[in-house]
Amino acid sequence: METKTPTLKSYITDVPDFPKKGIIFKDLTSLLESPEGVEQCLEALISTLKNKQIDKIVGIEARGFFFGMLLATALKVPFVPVRKPGKLPRKVISQSYELEYGSDVLEMHEDAIKSGEKIVIHDDVLATGGTAEAVCKMVETLGGQIVQCNFIMQLDFLEGAKKIAPHTVFSAVNY
Ligand code: AMP
Repeated sequence: METKTPTLKSYITDVPDFPKKGIIFKDLTSLLESPEGVEQCLEALISTLKNKQIDKIVGIEARGFFFGMLLATALKVPFVPVRKPGKLPRKVISQSYELEYGSDVLEMHEDAIKSGEKIVIHDDVLATGGTAEAVCKMVETLGGQIVQCNFIMQLDFLEGAKKIAPHTVFSAVNY
């Protein structure tokens, strides 16, 4: 009998009304629990990067760390974490960005990227694009060249790709 490979979407769990009413949270933990799913997801994330020169992967706290680190290891390049304020011990560059209510700040080490380095930014979900836009700004302020913004999932109806245009966006799964 023919066995069918599960689609990547089938590993991701929709959790309605989390963290608040009206939001459908895309839960990644069910994907992380499946070695086959993780392998399939990593392969999809790498598929468009194989013949490109990439110097570093920048991953966004916290869910961007899981596959960001796997991507960096697979491509044999350094991983750079973007963190919430006050977590990184050395000199940082900061960028604020708008949330639905209020604003937030992200930070990265100032010496994490050198001028001219080719960078892939990775996060789990591209929603409105505010988070990724803030990270693009920091990377470019440090002189990095953004090769691609890379996501496991993209919520197309929120048009995040428009916000980070003209940067190239790749998502393994679109909703
Ligand atoms: P945004 O800045 O609106 O693109 O939001 C992206 C960030 O919020 C990512 O770091 C995601 O982890 C998180 N996020 C936004 N919407 C969702 C969702 N529906 N499910 C899971 N995470 C989400």
